[in-house]
Amino acid sequence: MTLVFSDPLFERHQTGFHPECAARVQGAARYLDGLPWFSQLARGRITAATEELIVRTHSQHLIDQARTLAAGGGGYLDADTYLSPASFDVALHAAGTAMHAVDQVLRAGAEHREAFCLMRPPGHHATAQLSMGFCVFNNIAIAAHYARDVYGLQRILIVDFDVHHGNGTQDIFYEDAGVYFFSIHRFPFYPGSGTADETGRGRGLGTTLNIPLSMGTSRQLYREAFQRGLDTAVERCRPELILISAGFDAHKDDPVGSLGLEIEDYDFMTRSIKQAAASVCDGRIVSCLEGGYNLEVLPLLVAAHLEALRR
Ligand SMILES: [Zn+2]
Repeated sequence: MTLVFSDPLFERHQTGFHPECAARVQGAARYLDGLPWFSQLARGRITAATEELIVRTHSQHLIDQARTLAAGGGGYLDADTYLSPASFDVALHAAGTAMHAVDQVLRAGAEHREAFCLMRPPGHHATAQLSMGFCVFNNIAIAAHYARDVYGLQRILIVDFDVHHGNGTQDIFYEDAGVYFFSIHRFPFYPGSGTADETGRGRGLGTTLNIPLSMGTSRQLYREAFQRGLDTAVERCRPELILISAGFDAHKDDPVGSLGLEIEDYDFMTRSIKQAAASVCDGRIVSCLEGGYNLEVLPLLVAAHLEALRR
């Protein structure tokens, strides 16, 4: 059964008029609550990470900086990343929930094959040393480290379909042979990285796969490129777990991103990932919300993703 993590605590990261606002998860949660099939899904309890677990992924300096800024009343971590007094605690809960979701699909006798975390702040732009691009901690990278350290996984695949390149995730695993990173994104675009020739370094050479697409790429071409990339990534990685950086800002009406996608494209991508997971890792998937800023459309996109995930 599919497990969902959602909690009003994630609304306490108060960012004012920022596009990455509390109404994103609030609206999605309210919409899901009204769907008949949603009540049949299992609900998980959110958990805070300890700093000792986060320092596996991020520098102590990054953690100290976020804690100090929030404790002092909040402010900007970088030009785009705002913290309110509660934000540090909320970010610890986002990271902790990603780890807890890994527990729920990997522990012996786990009854859940896939988990979705409806949470914020997002994570995929945060590098080992730097919080940036609305992201404080890199939730998906923290989940990958946790899956390896606690469950001894040797091969993990991260699929990132957010419209922006997941530079933080790439940075963290660039020289890592055990975590394969596949990102499909708009290019040229923020944050500037994600070209096809960025493929990893040292022991991690060949474990990063970027598919940069220009604005104006047709949905058909996007889907073909996504499927090709996913097939390649699964073939090369043979993952024991698939993690999804689920950003919904490639939708045609997204005010921050957009790559012309429609709701059905998220259904398509999720089904493809699910099929891949069924073939290589017993269907084990943990998906975490990243971007997606159209408040009217985001609930529908999250629902389409979750509905495909649960099938
Ligand atoms: Zn994004």
